[in-house]
Amino acid sequence: MPDRSDFDETYHPDHLCKTLTMAMSTTAIESIDINAINGTLESKTAFDILTWCYQTFEKDDVKLSTSFGAEGMVLVHILSSMIEQPRIFTIDTGRNFQETYEVWEEANEKYGIDIECYYPDPQDVHKLIKGKGPNLFYRSVENRKACCHVRKVRPLRFALADAGVWISGLRREQGALRRDMPVLSYIEEHDVYKICPLANWTEQNVWEFIRNNAVPYNKLHDKGFPTIGCEPCTRPIRPAEDIRAGRWWWEKEADKECGIHLENGKVVRKKQVVNYTI
Ligand code: SF4
Repeated sequence: MPDRSDFDETYHPDHLCKTLTMAMSTTAIESIDINAINGTLESKTAFDILTWCYQTFEKDDVKLSTSFGAEGMVLVHILSSMIEQPRIFTIDTGRNFQETYEVWEEANEKYGIDIECYYPDPQDVHKLIKGKGPNLFYRSVENRKACCHVRKVRPLRFALADAGVWISGLRREQGALRRDMPVLSYIEEHDVYKICPLANWTEQNVWEFIRNNAVPYNKLHDKGFPTIGCEPCTRPIRPAEDIRAGRWWWEKEADKECGIHLENGKVVRKKQVVNYTI
């Protein structure tokens, strides 16, 4: 849950780096108890959760994913303020909006970072659209899921192959499938811990943070897009529509996800970590 410190304009990189450097000297331990840690992290601010993350895991083992939506930009801002050259990646599906590329460049310039990019395998794309065409996703749920698998899920596997921790901007408010999402989980498929520091944030919290900290944001949000996805599959929402109504709006299923956040995220497993403290 965010508190005033998450919205503080005096967030100063020098102060935060100093805080982390001091904390990195904590005693190493060899295992992690997800349930117990979640019990503590649940009431912490996003900054506290991320401080715990970087105190606990090696910096280069931690990667933030962003699709350049509002939540992702909040986390790009916080991580860039906390540590030098945080590892941040995105997936360029090949069907992104121009506005997404614009805020990506803006973030690189403002924070002096170089966001890593992962792409779909050209052979996979070739097989996908052969005989079905480039807009296959409009014709069936199976086609749409196949496209998301090739353009998002498979590149994600490569993106996380060298990571031990995956930071994501998911929020519980964003739909039924995310309502019970823990702050910390273990994702067996990718063999990573997943941390969602904004799990408890409301949409209002996100936009207060963006305004108070002059965070660059995707201009599609000014045009009624609450979330950012691929251009053919994302539209603005109308007043009173659900936040996910603008994604794959032609499908009837109530809970729509691209597949990258579907997992048995509550699996608890021991794994080697360093500098455990909370
Ligand atoms: S969101 Fe649409 S275009 Fe993007 S990967 Fe999924 S089906 Fe393909």
